[in-house]
Amino acid sequence: MKLLGKFLIGFLGLALFSQLAWAEAGQGSAASVSVTAEPVPVLCYHRFGNYGPQDPYFVSTEELTRQFEILRNEGFTPITVSALLEGWAGKRALPPKPLLITIDDGYADFAHTALPIFKKFEFPATLFVYTHFIDSQRGLTHAQLRELEAQGFEIGSHSFTHPKLTKPTRLELAQGQAAFLERELKGSFDSLQAWLGHPVVSLAYPYGLWDTTVAQAAQAAGYRAMFTVDQGTNTAKTPRAQLKRIMIVHNTSDRMFKYLINDRPLEITERSLEPGARVPGPVTALTLTVGVSQREAINPRSWSALKGGIKCTWVYTAADGKLKVTLPSPWTHGTDAVMLVARGAQPFEHYKETWLATIVPPRAEGGK
Ligand SMILES: [Zn+2]
Repeated sequence: MKLLGKFLIGFLGLALFSQLAWAEAGQGSAASVSVTAEPVPVLCYHRFGNYGPQDPYFVSTEELTRQFEILRNEGFTPITVSALLEGWAGKRALPPKPLLITIDDGYADFAHTALPIFKKFEFPATLFVYTHFIDSQRGLTHAQLRELEAQGFEIGSHSFTHPKLTKPTRLELAQGQAAFLERELKGSFDSLQAWLGHPVVSLAYPYGLWDTTVAQAAQAAGYRAMFTVDQGTNTAKTPRAQLKRIMIVHNTSDRMFKYLINDRPLEITERSLEPGARVPGPVTALTLTVGVSQREAINPRSWSALKGGIKCTWVYTAADGKLKVTLPSPWTHGTDAVMLVARGAQPFEHYKETWLATIVPPRAEGGK
């Protein structure tokens, strides 16, 4: 692992991007506590071009340019995943307001449509590619990916075939769940390593679907940072297998974009349903405790709680930070996201926590 760290520092030192100069300039000074506590947004893009509102995953060049201008105006510094991990580990200084830009799937439109804009702004990014898609008709090629890496972009894995890792098909499960996860996670790790010539650092779960079993398999495969699409931002305290991202889709207003990149992680010290949990239902309510450090900042009447995008009722006691969320209907089975947001005193100040959990019918769990 130490060798890998040195390799990455060396590699980034060679990167073309001028804003990465801080990497060398800041070598001597260790990251301070405030730097590791600072929220780090991770943007998640998919495709680029003018394909209208039919496909929300396409972001136009105009939108991308405007969003990059906002990032620059707000003082954010895009870096790569490995640079962030090094910073969080105190092995290098982080720039002011670090941010990650990630692109899922590896469509060729990144190279011909978005790349000129990334170059103009000198913003690096991490591309999550799935092995089967590389060199396909619509995918980036091995040669393009190697060239992108040489230019300071980072390549991460997005699995082997882009399956639902938490919900494999019968065919995918033919050799058992462990073999399936190993093929998708270790298989893509090994494949990328074989042709990149070094281990990859990160994984983006396909469809953002994850649970604790998937997270453990990813860790065993060798990944050091795993990205969800659970909405929010991260700090050095965020578990590396549960890193949050902000999905950017077509027609995201500037105001919404600014709001999202200014998310602050809501600190929860205990909760009745853990992130990535896979537990028998039904679940009718959730109980949580907000960390002492945020209780003062939060407006106790401002909560909003969603389960699977549907509003829940809540009761909050500011004195002890206890929040009780009652679901609109019993959660009997399936994977869903829970999202909690509370406002602070300042305009735009808000605290957010989103996580995925899976409820299994009691009988199915008992039969295993
Ligand atoms: Zn994908």
